[in-house]
Amino acid sequence: MFRKFIIIIFITTLTLNNMGVIASYTPPKFSASGINKKIYDDISMVKFKQVFKNSASERYEKLSIDLRKRYNYSQIVDFIKTLSKSSDVKTFEIGESADKRKLYSLEIGQGKTFKMITAGIHARENANPIFLLKYVAILLNDYQSKKKYAIDLLSKNKLAIVPCVNPDGYMATQFQKKIIKNKKLFINKLSDQSIKKFKANAKGVDLNRNFPTYLAASSWGGKNTSLVSKKPASAYFAGYSLGSEPETKAIMTWLLQYIPKATVYVDLHQSGRAVFYGKPNLSSAYNSKALGIANAIKKITGYVLLSNTKDVIGDNGNGTITDFAAEVASDFVYNSTIKRLAPTKSGNNKVYKYNKLKWKVSICTVETMLVSNGPPAARQTEWVSKKLFQMFNKIFVT
Ligand SMILES: [Zn+2]
Repeated sequence: MFRKFIIIIFITTLTLNNMGVIASYTPPKFSASGINKKIYDDISMVKFKQVFKNSASERYEKLSIDLRKRYNYSQIVDFIKTLSKSSDVKTFEIGESADKRKLYSLEIGQGKTFKMITAGIHARENANPIFLLKYVAILLNDYQSKKKYAIDLLSKNKLAIVPCVNPDGYMATQFQKKIIKNKKLFINKLSDQSIKKFKANAKGVDLNRNFPTYLAASSWGGKNTSLVSKKPASAYFAGYSLGSEPETKAIMTWLLQYIPKATVYVDLHQSGRAVFYGKPNLSSAYNSKALGIANAIKKITGYVLLSNTKDVIGDNGNGTITDFAAEVASDFVYNSTIKRLAPTKSGNNKVYKYNKLKWKVSICTVETMLVSNGPPAARQTEWVSKKLFQMFNKIFVT
């Protein structure tokens, strides 16, 4: 009887209060301002335009992508156009970069729930856009050859991918800054040699710090102040305000639209040959789902499994693309006090752990390759030795 009573109290407490305080801070030290509510609402309401629509007369012709070659962004767009001729592919224009290159997302397959993958948010990490397109090309080629595994995969599952989040960075790190058309952009201040190591967008904003998440651009007790820049730089500058960059805005809309319909989301980086999972301020439900996909990828690739579940909160590493995805999945809402996503009732001087997971999505970050921006021949070795085709297949069926 007594035990039953305790259990009832416990369940009631959990239901009524989805949050627990895990840290206090005084005062908040955000190195970037938040995002205006009107801008956030506009981003939430964007409808993507379908492009490269396949007509009945067009037929998909097999696409060959050579991992040992460097491809420029126009060639990537040509690959996307070719893939779009398949009746199993729908392509959307989702925005454009600071230097006016179009960003695209593709839906592939006939299934009901989405499996999401993004690549190329960091400029110098330019192997992953090619890996991702190579995977889709093999799958569609095999589908056309009526291979059973491809027919099964594409009829039961559905991918949503953004192959290249930072096309200006993708181009500049491989083909030098002369390819940047707008000469006023920050990237033109750097030498071609230093651009090879560049991670940011052409304005010097690290897109993977620019998302308006609960702990973005914060040092709430954080120690790693070397990992933050207060002005445009090659890496670690969150922007003067969160969500300021055109690439970030496009991806915010994309994540807001797809996360509620997805079961898995993987963001691809290099280098480190590692799989990262977990967020210290999110629910155990979130973290155990994240561990599930991370572990499955580790088993296939042999990459090292690294947990972020015990990270120091607000340690200047927040505001990432997966932080935003994870907070959308956890039902965080726009908070007008701190002008960013936050658990409800936050906005005071406390950091809350949120115990709810609204959308059951398994999220992780995968770092392929030993180095960034290395010779293209190393991509072929990685693809084979780390079983990247099998990794993508696993994501597709999760
Ligand atoms: Zn990266």
